[in-house]
Amino acid sequence: MQWIKQQIASRKTLDSKMYMIVLIVGTISTFASFIITCIEKLDFGAILSTFLCFAVMGVFWFMTVAKDMEQHLHTPLMVVLMFGLLPLAWIFCGGIHSGMIVYFIGCLFLIVPSISESRKRVALFLISLIWLLGIVFLTTLVFPGMVTPLSDKEWYLDVLMAMVVIAAGIFSITTLMVEAYETERKSKEALLEEMEALAKRDGLTGLFNRRELFERLEKDENLHDGHHFLIMADIDFFKKINDTYGHLFGDKALKTVAQTLGANVSGEDEFAARYGGEEFVGLLVCENIVDAERRAETIRQQVYELVYEEYPELHISISGGLVCAAHFENVTEALFKADELLYSAKQGGRNQIWAE
Ligand code: GH3
Ligand code: MG
Ligand code: MG
Repeated sequence: MQWIKQQIASRKTLDSKMYMIVLIVGTISTFASFIITCIEKLDFGAILSTFLCFAVMGVFWFMTVAKDMEQHLHTPLMVVLMFGLLPLAWIFCGGIHSGMIVYFIGCLFLIVPSISESRKRVALFLISLIWLLGIVFLTTLVFPGMVTPLSDKEWYLDVLMAMVVIAAGIFSITTLMVEAYETERKSKEALLEEMEALAKRDGLTGLFNRRELFERLEKDENLHDGHHFLIMADIDFFKKINDTYGHLFGDKALKTVAQTLGANVSGEDEFAARYGGEEFVGLLVCENIVDAERRAETIRQQVYELVYEEYPELHISISGGLVCAAHFENVTEALFKADELLYSAKQGGRNQIWAE
């Protein structure tokens, strides 16, 4: 039982799961009918045909497990079911005077989840339907003698059994389909959310990226309330740091500086972003420019005091420009001014923040 469950669970797609279910149910039922025909000592034709059906299932198992050909067997299994097993069962199990008609309908439904390609599915469904209708017509009206009849009691019992089996089968399969759809929908949603979150972030530093920076600033309704300040910071002599200590260390330094900025710009409505290579922008919400300058100064100082265990003597510094967003028409103008101030801070000797 565990092995059966594992076989079904290990299949990823619905048609693959269905294939396994049909194969398992088909094998069990053909084996059971072979045993029953033997016990009931029915005529040789019945015993041979049920054994042949069971043997066909064995071939499918061999090709599936030993030859790993499952993906090529979905349609053949359905064809064997429609054109071999069902007609034989019809002939030996009472034809129209039995529950077989219910199996016909139930098995036609199996085509839907078993065949993933829609044109093939429609074609197989229509051909099977016509074929099964033909069998009903021929064995009922033209050659009624072909069918091994059931007694009345057997017939009624068979109809009840067929209803139970097919109702349970359709219920289980539709449940499986709905659950598979739900699982897939949820995992897609989770993946999409994850991708959306990732698309907003810079891969190296984890801060928001430039696109998200502009989007957030442009959406911020309070940006021009006089309490929102933009700091643009750039690492000093970063090219030299790369050249001297290597790019890997450069990346680490970038991350550490980004973390320091991020930790200082984490209040409500505040955030930090990587603006470019070694340039960052932070949105500070402060009482006034003095307060904003004090916070910007703290960031500058904390960056300067960062200790890199590989190079304990090294001090990395940043220069920055600080502006109040309310003094500008739009985000671009505010950032342009912050950049100008940053340039002045560089000219003024670096490791300093210029504000206006
Ligand atoms: P300044 O003080 O005037 O800003 O000088 P600078 O050397 O910092 O400025 P410049 O613009 O000449 O150099 C920036 C360097 O940043 C060049 C580039 O290779 C490096 N850089 C940009 N992105 C990354 C990154 O993701 N990782 C590393 N390791 N380096 C980067
Ligand atoms: Mg720089
Ligand atoms: Mg730069």
